[in-house]
Amino acid sequence: MDVLKGRGAVVTGAASGIGKAIATAFVESGAGVLLCDLNAKALDAAACELGSRAIGRVTDVSDEAQVESAMRAARQAFGSLDIVVNCAGFGAIAPLTEISGDKWRSVQAVTLGGVFYGVKHGARQMLDQGRAGVIINISSVNGRQPGEGQAAYCAAKAGVDMITRCGALELGARGIRVVGIAPGLVETPLTRKELEDPAMRQLFFGIIPMGRAVAAEEIGAAAVFLASDHARSITGDTIAIDGGSLTRGYPALLTGVKKSS
Ligand code: NAP
Repeated sequence: MDVLKGRGAVVTGAASGIGKAIATAFVESGAGVLLCDLNAKALDAAACELGSRAIGRVTDVSDEAQVESAMRAARQAFGSLDIVVNCAGFGAIAPLTEISGDKWRSVQAVTLGGVFYGVKHGARQMLDQGRAGVIINISSVNGRQPGEGQAAYCAAKAGVDMITRCGALELGARGIRVVGIAPGLVETPLTRKELEDPAMRQLFFGIIPMGRAVAAEEIGAAAVFLASDHARSITGDTIAIDGGSLTRGYPALLTGVKKSS
């Protein structure tokens, strides 16, 4: 299926996990993709694996100038910038009373600030080229669901959801859609280590009605749909892909783990 044929895309956090799965699905759907990531080695490997319509570019999404030049470079490379996926992000698991100011700032700078720069500079390129586009922000169920020990991450992701709504509001009349995806538990390098702990695995799987993690490829398929013309009336919303976990809440990462170990 070539639903994204001829489109130019940027995907951040594209060397690993969900970002890599989205970049892969975009290339398979006919798009050209500029993969942005901090991890140069993994980025090289991912770009090579995806072939000639994929270009790797080392980018720190917390640095506005780097994000701006990545958006410009994608437009130059592919002739237009039609799709931006702001995926790079991470959290920190620590009690609210223990988290340091430095850790808080680093989570906000990448997980929230990186999305803001991606929306701002992605939209600027789209407006300048005078062609409609779509921006997809990768949020989390934690944007809506508080998690014990997850204050910095939950606050950042709630901010991401609001940027999505404000972006849709401001940019809709100018042909730009801004949408979000809120994954539940996805097994990626980010979560794999924690899930090796049987107590943690039990804690997570116990609250997911479907009893399993979401595959990164499922997020990739949803991103292709949202980026395509099939989703031309969807903007401002953040869609949960979580096996139903939002119906139950979030595991107690601090007390829950302590109890079961
Ligand atoms: P991942 O496998 O760790 O991939 C994230 C990638 O982003 C890594 O390659 C990482 O590089 C890169 N990165 C980190 N800081 C960056 C920066 N400042 N600029 C550019 N790239 C940077 O993580 P993932 O599980 O795929 O998660 C991707 C997104 O999905 C995140 O926003 C996460 O919050 C969200 N999410 C994940 C889950 C889940 O269960 N996995 C659930 C909900 C939401 P390094 O390897 O050098 O760190």
